[in-house]
Amino acid sequence: MYDVAVIGGGILGCATALHLVRGGMKVVIVERDSLCRQASGVNAGTHSMQMKRAALIPYALKGWEMWKDAPQWLGMEVGFRTTGGLTLAFTEEEAEALQTRMGRRIAAGAPIEMVNAKRARTIEPGLSGTAVSASYCPIDGFANAALTGLAMRSALVKDGAEVRERTAVDGIERNGGGFVVKAGGASISASRVVIAAGVWAGPMLRWLGVPIDIVCGARHVAVTERTRPIMRTILGEATGKLSIIQPGNGTVLIGGGWPAVGSPEHGSMTVIPGNLVGNFQLACATVPALMHTRVVRAWPGLDANVSDHLPLVGALPGVDGAFIIGCVRGGYTTGPYMGKLLGQLVLGHEPEMALFDPGRFEEGTNLVH
Ligand SMILES: Cc1cc2nc3c(=O)[nH]c(=O)nc-3n(C[C@H](O)[C@H](O)[C@H](O)COP(=O)(O)OP(=O)(O)OC[C@H]3O[C@@H](n4cnc5c(N)ncnc54)[C@H](O)[C@@H]3O)c2cc1C
Repeated sequence: MYDVAVIGGGILGCATALHLVRGGMKVVIVERDSLCRQASGVNAGTHSMQMKRAALIPYALKGWEMWKDAPQWLGMEVGFRTTGGLTLAFTEEEAEALQTRMGRRIAAGAPIEMVNAKRARTIEPGLSGTAVSASYCPIDGFANAALTGLAMRSALVKDGAEVRERTAVDGIERNGGGFVVKAGGASISASRVVIAAGVWAGPMLRWLGVPIDIVCGARHVAVTERTRPIMRTILGEATGKLSIIQPGNGTVLIGGGWPAVGSPEHGSMTVIPGNLVGNFQLACATVPALMHTRVVRAWPGLDANVSDHLPLVGALPGVDGAFIIGCVRGGYTTGPYMGKLLGQLVLGHEPEMALFDPGRFEEGTNLVH
């Protein structure tokens, strides 16, 4: 009998499980694939305050701190770098909208400043001359998402959590005061369950009688061949359609939320060629040196959301001992901290920052029946 079964081994499930095992609980984490191979392993790895919703800035700042200190709490360096980041406005209208948008993030505590085009080019000499102004955040940076699963597995196993990979959960039943998790032909008994299954959480919520509608978004990331250093910072643009970084290995990662094709029900996902071209054209217009570089690979990933675009982190209404963590926009950055907060709740402590109560959907605004 486990104290808690965590279902789903992305960044949110792993971070929660790690906090729980360190809090003295007997923990099993059950993952259909390998740890952090879905959204948490295929994302662009950016830790950008400018790309976070204002309401999540306090959480993103804490998450950023945790990634910076990864060797201390995770036991491994995961490619964390602070490069600074610029978000560019190409027209006066965009400049005005950018100022308003960043104003909300600044009010929420993000160390962002508005800069003119000349200063932006001093910060990032690789820029084309087309931006009229920009916002700048000196702490923006990135990590290597592909290393996350490796680091998490090693920390979880070392601290005594049981990690069951390549094991799909296909049912959760209530059993007295606890739960029976059906997985890979086995039954796992646990006093508590944490659903951390990303875009696949919807059916699990329905098994427990809490039918919150999880919306799935598919988007791509592309990578170029290795090239000489052509940029220093994380670059975005005011309408949110671009994110470019050049990690230390010389490749350039290009994304920005361009839609791909994919859904939780169907195993296959794919990029949309026209969107890849549009994304790359925008990237080349921003950093002209990219025109001499080839995209060698692009891949899609699935991201979960709910109708109010805020996370689900807390206890499931009406199901004692059941919790959910998911739908965290920019969840790679905030993930370690969100996991810590939910861990505090599950351990019976007062979370140090407010959670995002799934009970807010109880009135039926977002329930599917
Ligand atoms: C293309 C893309 C780029 C992104 N870029 C960034 C970025 O630059 N910066 C940033 O901060 N955020 C970024 N994000 C967001 C971030 O990646 C996600 O918010 C975060 O990884 C979500 O973590 P998760 O643990 O909820 O989900 P996931 O990582 O998807 O984990 C859910 C896990 O549950 C498992 N699972 C599902 N069903 C079952 C089952 N039946 N049994 C057992 N296990 C199951 C899955 O296999 C999966 O491993 C990006 C997302 C995408 C898609």
